[in-house]
Amino acid sequence: MQDFYQFEEENRDHISTVDAKGNRIWVYPKKPKGRFTSYRTIVAFILVALLLSGPFLKVNGYPLLLLNVFERKFVIFGTPFWPQDMHLFAIATITFFVFIILFTSALGRIWCGWACPQTIFMEMVFRKIEYWIEGDANQQRKLNSAPWTKEKTIKKGFKQFIFIIISLIISHTVMAYIIGVEQVRDIVSQPPAKNLSGFIGLAFFTGLFYWVFSYFREQACTVVCPYGRLQGVLLNKDSVVVIYDWLRGEPRGRIKKDEEQPDKGDCIDCKLCVHACPTGIDIRNGTQLECVNCTTCIDACDEVMAKVNKPKGLIRYSSYNAIKEGTLKTFTSRIVGYSVIFIILVLLLGFLLATRSEVETVILRVPGQLYQTTEEGDISNLYSIQFINKTFDPVEVEVKLMGDTGNIAWVGNEPVIQVPSNGSADGIFFLKLPAEALDGYKTKIFIQILKDGEVLDELKTNFLGPATKAK
Ligand code: SF4
Ligand code: SF4
Repeated sequence: MQDFYQFEEENRDHISTVDAKGNRIWVYPKKPKGRFTSYRTIVAFILVALLLSGPFLKVNGYPLLLLNVFERKFVIFGTPFWPQDMHLFAIATITFFVFIILFTSALGRIWCGWACPQTIFMEMVFRKIEYWIEGDANQQRKLNSAPWTKEKTIKKGFKQFIFIIISLIISHTVMAYIIGVEQVRDIVSQPPAKNLSGFIGLAFFTGLFYWVFSYFREQACTVVCPYGRLQGVLLNKDSVVVIYDWLRGEPRGRIKKDEEQPDKGDCIDCKLCVHACPTGIDIRNGTQLECVNCTTCIDACDEVMAKVNKPKGLIRYSSYNAIKEGTLKTFTSRIVGYSVIFIILVLLLGFLLATRSEVETVILRVPGQLYQTTEEGDISNLYSIQFINKTFDPVEVEVKLMGDTGNIAWVGNEPVIQVPSNGSADGIFFLKLPAEALDGYKTKIFIQILKDGEVLDELKTNFLGPATKAK
């Protein structure tokens, strides 16, 4: 019995969809069916429904998700975020990456197989349409090599037409997440010249999705996707992946039904798992970069095992060490370590979100100005202030100097400043302090921002004065 991997390592020198001359090998995966395919179809249906309905879903009248990078406007679960929230984005991004590392370390590429939009659209939408119009793998092969007859032209033309329609739907959905569903509606209902950049964006995304799903296909996962290419460092021997049980399967060889062959393993070398694989690999060669853990080979092999009266699960979700040692270790020290870091980051992010002020204030001394001495002998500094209203409602704010001494004199502004919803307002003011209240050249002062008498924010800034302290 083999207690180590004994595979043809030659397969790791090149990807399975490129031949020795560098030409692409087109993959014709056999139509999948089985337990996992059914579960994945249900999950895909729910996720596609959520994705397509997302732009229309509102929270308190505002988008559920809007990632307008052009106008630097972001709305997540109905809450607006601004570029001033960049620290939150930075921590959220780090948290996300730690989550990816933790998740992949524990459960391998489960995301790729079950939830990645590329796999879902490719395998559950475009590929299903292809099976419906052109038939299973062998029929597709035959059709592609056949001369251009009327039937072939109709089938191919109809398929491409539907592919373009679906690409249009996807591109409009993606644009709705970026610029908002109302703006997409404007682009669609008005002449292109009126919203030229939006129209070009829609045309670009449509072309891109059509090209990816009709031609580029699995290469997006095996050649382009950075997550796929990082699997070599993210996976370890305890990660749960779609894996072939080589201890049970080898030595492989053809057998007849119910035939007892004690010198052979359970793999009958029918290659159905290979023919079903949408990335064109042989999972029996071990975990490979191309494997998106789509479970199709599990279903294909389970069907074969049922036919030859062997237990299912020759290919299954498991880990290298679990197959080798017989026990699946879930909480390895690596997983515990990643989990601790992840929990700390989630708590930090939660704290920052909970304490996030609804009005962000930036206060700066006006550049190029030092200080002035008034006729009364007070010292004054000139400040500019900017308020950013992070809510969807207009807000009235007041600025108050903390402490007993000093006063604020606005330049052309009212003491109560109106900040429009989802917008900003600026102001300039003189801050006057008695000379004896200063600590010298630089004095720290504290300013409160109030809304309806409630403190929204407290800021610290410097006040400049004469270098020698007044007596
Ligand atoms: S090897 Fe199996 S799980 Fe991996 S991509 Fe191919 S069919 Fe899917
Ligand atoms: S489908 Fe199962 S039995 Fe057939 S070649 Fe693949 S692993 Fe072996």
